Amino acid sequence: MTTSLQSLSGSQELRLLGLAALLALMATVTTIDLLQHAKGGGGRARRVWLATAAAAGGFALWAAQVVALLADDAAVPLGAVPVVLSLAASVVTLAAALRLALDPRPALRMTGGALLGLGVLAPHDLDLIGGATSLGDLARVGAGAGAAALIGALGMRLAAGEAPGRQSAGSLVLVCAGLARYLGQRNLVHQDLPHQGLAALSDDGIAPVIGVASLMLLAVVLATLAVDRQARRRREQQDLARSLADASIEGIALCDGDRIVTANTSLAALLGCPAERLRGRRLGDLLEGEGQARLDAAEGRAVAVTLVGGRGERVAAEAALRPITVAGRPHRALAVRDVTARLEAERHIQYLVHHDALTGLPNRARFNERLEGAVAEAARGARGLAVLCLDVDCFKEVNDTCGEAAGDAGLRLIVRWVERALAEDQVLARLGADEFAVLAPGLEREHEVSGLAERVLAALRPEIWRESGLPALTLSIGAALFPRDAQDAAGLMSRAEAALAAVKAQGGDGFRIFEVGLGAELRERRGLEHDLRQAARRGEFALVYQPQIDVASGRVVGFEALLRWTHPERGQVPPDRFIPIAEETGSILAIGEWVLRQVCREAAGWESPLRVAVNVSPVQLHHPDFAQVVQEVLHETGLDPARLELEITETALVREPARALVTLRRLKALGLRIAMDDFGTGYSSLSNLRVFPFDKIKIDRSLVRAVDENREAAAILRAVLGLGRGLGLPVVAEGVETLAELAFLDTEACQEAQGYLIGKPLPIEAFGELTRLGPAAQARGARDAA
Ligand code: C2E
Ligand code: CA
Ligand code: CA
Repeated sequence: MTTSLQSLSGSQELRLLGLAALLALMATVTTIDLLQHAKGGGGRARRVWLATAAAAGGFALWAAQVVALLADDAAVPLGAVPVVLSLAASVVTLAAALRLALDPRPALRMTGGALLGLGVLAPHDLDLIGGATSLGDLARVGAGAGAAALIGALGMRLAAGEAPGRQSAGSLVLVCAGLARYLGQRNLVHQDLPHQGLAALSDDGIAPVIGVASLMLLAVVLATLAVDRQARRRREQQDLARSLADASIEGIALCDGDRIVTANTSLAALLGCPAERLRGRRLGDLLEGEGQARLDAAEGRAVAVTLVGGRGERVAAEAALRPITVAGRPHRALAVRDVTARLEAERHIQYLVHHDALTGLPNRARFNERLEGAVAEAARGARGLAVLCLDVDCFKEVNDTCGEAAGDAGLRLIVRWVERALAEDQVLARLGADEFAVLAPGLEREHEVSGLAERVLAALRPEIWRESGLPALTLSIGAALFPRDAQDAAGLMSRAEAALAAVKAQGGDGFRIFEVGLGAELRERRGLEHDLRQAARRGEFALVYQPQIDVASGRVVGFEALLRWTHPERGQVPPDRFIPIAEETGSILAIGEWVLRQVCREAAGWESPLRVAVNVSPVQLHHPDFAQVVQEVLHETGLDPARLELEITETALVREPARALVTLRRLKALGLRIAMDDFGTGYSSLSNLRVFPFDKIKIDRSLVRAVDENREAAAILRAVLGLGRGLGLPVVAEGVETLAELAFLDTEACQEAQGYLIGKPLPIEAFGELTRLGPAAQARGARDAA
């Protein structure tokens, strides 16, 4: 279907050129638009849009070229094969150019632009080169192509960029590339190739048809593009909304009526199931019980609900349901906040309010609550209960001397072992620093309560302290019974505390059940405490001396100094009564120092160098300054340290063996001697004798009593004497009251003796002869005194 082309009139030519220019511009703008759109999409969408751009743009550019050539009155290759070929070439070139233009690297983009510039009108170039042309013509075509490539490169660089203004500018520059190309060929076509195309299109009516068809094609493409743009924008908006919703910590669901349309990941995580699985589910299914009804009723306010998770688990939450409009339709937005952590924190605070942080035990407030409850319940059930108040003996001292860490560890150890001694329904609580209490429901008989108290005391065995390396602590326990001793919780506590105070008054480390008369006892103790503080100042203290003899020779070798207190109203108060009080109140430190100074001064004044023994309380021994005080007193009084003996009971070592050892060594370094007092009453441990630097063992008078008659006592005494021999320590027997006892000690080779038989404790003046005279008179004097 080849026809010859008619000459076109000037105005016709212009119109066609205008149409070609319009087509070229439209094609370029559309192509660049599509290119930008393809860039925004990914994967398949990108390829589809790129292909559309290549197809539509390629066709339109091709059409522009044909129309321009027709306007030039040129022979246009519009036969079936050349048409298809040139069209295909245009589309393929554009596709390749656009593919390159998509690349982020500017060099490749520019290459794409150059390709585009070269590609436009390229089919016609072939046509031209195929025809007989001069070298000059070829050069012109080449120059046009080169210019088009350069301009195209520049145009694409602009057009493929991000800024919209540059894109439009780029499109215009690209059109210029086409123009350059066209100008390079224009005259050639016009002059040298009249009607010589391979297949010439001669119908002048075809140009407008092609032009309009291409324009329509471009219009359709642009319309599609607009629709897709809108869809894409909507998708982006949805994505944005979803990302925002997913970013929220709160669970969010959009509901259409009762049905969930969409839910965010937080809600999915809260419910433990994928967000997709929530879509379409009924809101009510996610909430336990009347949750939805409450949400509806709350009208947008937050209410506490329980969510039902994917595996049926319950999650405590706070939720609000609010009306919103989505796409013009009323919906509801559910916002959910997980309050598990907050509830957990609240529970923890509650726990802290009611428990002691160190031991985890209920505190005083909690204990009082429980006690009140237990009393009410016991009253209803006509049953009894017992309250035990526990107090750690000398805790303050341990805390002060060993540090709070050791004190805390000691308390924890006590709690651990006391708890083991308790039955399931018995509650241990910490009421204060070193105060504890036990509530024992159902315990109503005295012997049951004593049994419990004994178990608790026995739980703190010496081994647990030794193993832990902590200073040993003991407990004092006071108990009261409901309903016998009091009818209410407060009364019971005060009775148990009174019983505890009575135990403390007796030196602690024991227990007592409340009894009528305790009050008077305690009042007396308070009175003694008070008077004891004044005693030294008022000069109510005095010292007596009890002689000690060498059993074999009968010679007096020394004295034990014993303290006496003459109370202005009560008269003589025995040391067994007031020393424990002085120890507990701490006044023993001053009293003990007074005793030491008195004794040393006294002994330093004797003519005969007799030994003198001074009793040292555990409280003194554990005081960090004790060795220092002794050293000062020795220095001050001038007493030869070798004449001073300090009597220390075994119990003083147990609490804090390491510290005691250090003090004993420092004392020994002063040159004095240490005697273990009251051996046979406490632990009587061989290891204590070995570990601590003792110089002497004093056997308690309970072991000496009737040793001549009682076979068992005799056996024990022999064993202790053997022990002393084995360790190379001399033994002093205390409390010798009869000649038979003394004779027994003599037979068993006990080194020294002390007791009423030899001499009662008396003021030192009574022993004037002994302290002044030589050895022979001393022995005589001792017998006289007895
Ligand atoms: P202790 O150290 O065992 O003192 C010996 C106690 O036995 C003294 O009682 C003494 O009078 C008594 N005694 C001596 N010979 C006999 C005897 O043949 N038969 C009997 N039945 N008793 C005898 P005292 O003076 O009442 O002292 C009691 C305790 O008071 C002492 O026991 C000692 O632990 C403590 N004590 C006395 N003075 C002081 C002191 O100055 N400082 C300290 N820390 N404690 C002291
Ligand atoms: Ca003693
Ligand atoms: Ca003793």
